[in-house]
Amino acid sequence: MNRQIPFPTDQVLIAGRWQAPANGQSLPLFDPSDGSELTRIARGGSADVDAAVHAAQSALDGAWGLLSATERGRLLMAMSAKVLEQADELARLEALDVGKPYKQGRADAVALARYLEFYGGAADKVMGETIPFANGYTTLTWREPHGVTAHIVPWNYPMQIIGRSVGAALAMGNACVLKPAEEACLTALAFARIAQDCGLPAGALNVVPGLGEEAGAALSSHPGVRHVSFTGSVAVGTLIQTAAAKNAIPVTLELGGKSPQIVFADADLDAALPFLVNAGIQNAGQTCSAASRILVERPVFDTVVARMAERYRALRVAPALADGDIGPVISARQRDIIQGYLDLVRDNGLHVAAQATLPADLPAGGYYVAPTLVADVVPGHRIAQEEIFGPVQAVIPFDGEAEALRIANGTPYGLVAGVWTRDGGRQLRMARKLQCGQVFINNYGAGGGIELPFGGVKHSGHGREKGFEALYGFSALKTVAIRHD
Ligand code: NAD
Repeated sequence: MNRQIPFPTDQVLIAGRWQAPANGQSLPLFDPSDGSELTRIARGGSADVDAAVHAAQSALDGAWGLLSATERGRLLMAMSAKVLEQADELARLEALDVGKPYKQGRADAVALARYLEFYGGAADKVMGETIPFANGYTTLTWREPHGVTAHIVPWNYPMQIIGRSVGAALAMGNACVLKPAEEACLTALAFARIAQDCGLPAGALNVVPGLGEEAGAALSSHPGVRHVSFTGSVAVGTLIQTAAAKNAIPVTLELGGKSPQIVFADADLDAALPFLVNAGIQNAGQTCSAASRILVERPVFDTVVARMAERYRALRVAPALADGDIGPVISARQRDIIQGYLDLVRDNGLHVAAQATLPADLPAGGYYVAPTLVADVVPGHRIAQEEIFGPVQAVIPFDGEAEALRIANGTPYGLVAGVWTRDGGRQLRMARKLQCGQVFINNYGAGGGIELPFGGVKHSGHGREKGFEALYGFSALKTVAIRHD
């Protein structure tokens, strides 16, 4: 497969114009599959962010702000169709940029199209209420866009995260400034070109690639921004919330997790097994909702570990375009972080139940990590508490519902959880008591479920994206009280 990138990559998009960043600087972008420099991207800075925020405000005051909800919806639908048309190309770019196996990149492109379709269809279906109130009044509510919204996106699922945040924000009539991650921004640039081709008015979507501490920090603290949507680490999420607080604006923070899948002894193990492993190793474990902890009731503990181990040994690690089960991780830095946890596993003498072998012919400069299954982990161990963001799962034994809940809820995070049991009462008890934003019973992830509101509690963040709920997050409710006789 070719490695050509069919558009200039070292530019920012402001007010519908692709241009060099104000400082004229660029940053290298690496191919994680072999560590080579793929291309260079713009090193956007505060001057570009400022121009982008003003361009977005002008779009709101001009052509973009004048469109009806139905017209915005049609534009999103057109963008959806074009994304689908270009899904193969987007998957190729994502494979080169993120190191994601091609078929996973293609699934992400299809998800992006689906987000645009969903939010395009929903754009003119967000309604207000009339409220019974005192005699002599008619009172009603409607939803208005915040104005300029900032979207700070990580490198792990660029297309899906752009779909769920920019898609919903545009549907509600906001104008967006998108700051993709410095490690991966090709599909963000390709998406912006698709939006332009479909006739999205200039300034409705501006893109400023650059470093987090430069472009990202300038964007999250800009006084013209009225809402920030962020997905990434807890540390940066905290900085962003602090910056946003200074401007008294709302933020949506999606900060990852340490999500459990809980397997009771009465579970249908044949149904559970593929989900237990896939949800841990998908995207080389670099998934906010990765099932990085597997809690197993003691009577079936050995069986589950043995069957998971069998799957681990069969996993094929390969360069992204060779389309194996797992590609490289995003960067040398991320590989070293994960390796640090694997060293800890070794130094603490933990039980490695299985480790996939890395093929000898992997490109030498690539950022590969051997997927590793660690069993009999105590719940308080660092690998059962901290987000590793790599293909490493910790399997933890438990006895009974109460202990399962204690362990499941016993981390700083609370994003999603899976429960495998045939007992209906237990399904509901667990769903009620698990501290997280989504619970999956006898499945995990519901196939991506873009219709399903998503977000966390505790250190996993707050606010909801995906589903209809995101449209409420990207809008402000206005109440109107009319006094009459
Ligand atoms: P990060 O939080 O540093 O980066 C995410 C995004 O925030 C990027 O676009 C980055 O440029 C931007 N950013 C960084 N510093 C910023 C700042 N000061 N102000 C504004 N924006 C800023 O994440 P990372 O360094 O790429 O990864 C570190 C860890 O974060 C990972 O190991 C993982 O645990 C976690 N992470 C979670 C998710 C998720 O989906 N929740 C995604 C990526 C990373």
